[in-house]
Amino acid sequence: MSRFYLTTAIDYVNSRPHLGTAYEKIAADVIARYHRLSGVPTQFVMGNDEHSQNVYQRATERGLDPLAFCDEMEQVFREVWDKLDVSFDDFIRTTEDRHRAAVTALVQRIAEAGDLYEGEYEGWYCVSCEAFKQDKDLVEGNCPVHQTRPEWIKEKNYFFRLSKYRDRLLAHYAANPGFLVPEVRRNEMLRLLERGLDDISVSRTGQSWGIPLPFDPSSVVYVWFDALINYIAAVGYGTDEARFNEWWPADVHVVGKDITRFHAVVWPAMLMSAGLALPKRIFGHGWVHWQGQKMSKSLGTSVDPLEAADRLGPDPLRLYLVKEIAFGQDGDFTWERFEERYNADLANNLGNLVSRVAVMATKYRAGRVAPVPGAVSHLTERAADVVRRYQAAMDEYQLHVGMAAAFELVDATNEFITRSEPWVLAKDPTRAAELDQALFDMAEALRIAAILLWPAIPASASEILRRVGETRPADALRVAHDTAWSTGERTISTGPPLWPRIDTSGPAPAKDAAEKGTEHTMTSETEPPGQDDTSPPPATADRAPTTAEAVRPEAVPVPVPVAEEPRISFDDFMKLTLKVAKVVAAEAIPKSKKLLKVTVDLGTEQRTVVAGIARAYTPEDLVGRTVVVVANLNKAKLMGVESNGMILAATDPDQNPVLLTLDAPEKAPPGSRVR
Ligand SMILES: [Zn+2]
Repeated sequence: MSRFYLTTAIDYVNSRPHLGTAYEKIAADVIARYHRLSGVPTQFVMGNDEHSQNVYQRATERGLDPLAFCDEMEQVFREVWDKLDVSFDDFIRTTEDRHRAAVTALVQRIAEAGDLYEGEYEGWYCVSCEAFKQDKDLVEGNCPVHQTRPEWIKEKNYFFRLSKYRDRLLAHYAANPGFLVPEVRRNEMLRLLERGLDDISVSRTGQSWGIPLPFDPSSVVYVWFDALINYIAAVGYGTDEARFNEWWPADVHVVGKDITRFHAVVWPAMLMSAGLALPKRIFGHGWVHWQGQKMSKSLGTSVDPLEAADRLGPDPLRLYLVKEIAFGQDGDFTWERFEERYNADLANNLGNLVSRVAVMATKYRAGRVAPVPGAVSHLTERAADVVRRYQAAMDEYQLHVGMAAAFELVDATNEFITRSEPWVLAKDPTRAAELDQALFDMAEALRIAAILLWPAIPASASEILRRVGETRPADALRVAHDTAWSTGERTISTGPPLWPRIDTSGPAPAKDAAEKGTEHTMTSETEPPGQDDTSPPPATADRAPTTAEAVRPEAVPVPVPVAEEPRISFDDFMKLTLKVAKVVAAEAIPKSKKLLKVTVDLGTEQRTVVAGIARAYTPEDLVGRTVVVVANLNKAKLMGVESNGMILAATDPDQNPVLLTLDAPEKAPPGSRVR
């Protein structure tokens, strides 16, 4: 029986995960879920790397015991992974006993193989990198990654005979072309190996935070040497030999391209020394950039993954990361692009399809759809072809190709609806059988697409499956047989739009991704969705239908259950400072159809506020009016103008703003609190 063991890098816990960290976990999660969907017993391990001097320093700065600090950070990390629906089976921390046991056992075995020797290390060490640096690695004496001066250290260290394994590593690479992918990473490592390897220092002296060497407790194991061992510790090395034999070697280590050397050279050499099998594959993924720049907390170019998930949902974020970024290459994230893809793939395409199927099945057949015996289905072959290409891509970790294949089926189904015109069939009683078949075909194709998309968008795909009458839970489905065209009658349910279309015509959110509260335009983020229509889909999926295209055969109301809005406390409400303000000046913002730059008097001060009201008000209309302003919103730059507050307005049915004004402005002067 085959089984699948995959890991991600374990993370330093000195700061919260950023979007780049989340990218790795989400990609690995999609791989894990795909293997579960394939019916293969899967073990997906993630964890935290805690024996870092950075972690020790952060804890000390905060006056905490390092272990207590790591406990706290574990909760922070787990919360993020939970919100992003990352379904790891095991979470290992390097301070756990099982990890300590594995490190002790492996180091002992490497020592017994004669591969550790005592020496004097003298040289540079960057604590932020937790790495020894050579002069040639430095730029003007500084670590190029951290722009800080490394420490000059001179200490007694133990060295690992890495140089001894160069030839065996080269032979392994030659015999296993898929050992390190993608190709570009493999070529980098081959060049490195061909140049020759130096032995590496694998211990530190004078530190208490770490795992002591079994044969010299005055030294601790170097944090990188320690961390790599988590991959065998998590499956029982040193604690549970039966379990270890069941799961090791790993099928894939998913790691960032910046740490492939540790994984593709040092780690296999350690395993060779200890006489253990090597992982079958190392996948060195690329980076998610922020607007073309490397994501970095210190440079202010990092995005909080929870902010991204809160904005449009965890599933849209997951889909963006695995579909828009070719797995293995670098990719880019911007709010504009994220919103654009959300509208194109989810609101206008998949979400629209879900609505159309439900609306038509409900309207024409009271929700019961079944194929006509003997009739030919138009989407069967297309679906089978998509499933085949999806599996081929996913088996090779080409996640973006797999997702694109699944979306081909979504496109094909939308096109099929346009072609078969169920609304025309419905008017002709002699064509009832054709309508039956068309309704069944679109529901069945959507069901298959939802199964294929489940690894990327698990919560939404489960909901789609429920709506198309799939009675089994998503995690009980298997890609091999459950994506075959089925022929049973099914009950289709309606529901609220899964992904309401968002308005992207306004200005982009402020550049500083970390800044919250950048939605200073008053356009609602959730325009009435285009998901309740049965009109033909747009000619290309990347744009919403124009008025001319959206010729509706008939208006079909969708029963949308009214969900209870979440309540907030009075204290929460009072966090908003709403004030009366008088407009003293207003002007257009060049190039913006929507925004005005408005100067308001708040009694004690005047402020500039950028307001998205230009479609309904001219600057002249505004001067002298009394309005209501949110006074304590974060500042944000919109179209180059800093906005310091937000003017309140209602939204009319055509999405135009209607300003809130006072019943008796003379009684409440500027600055009066509104509550
Ligand atoms: Zn550094």
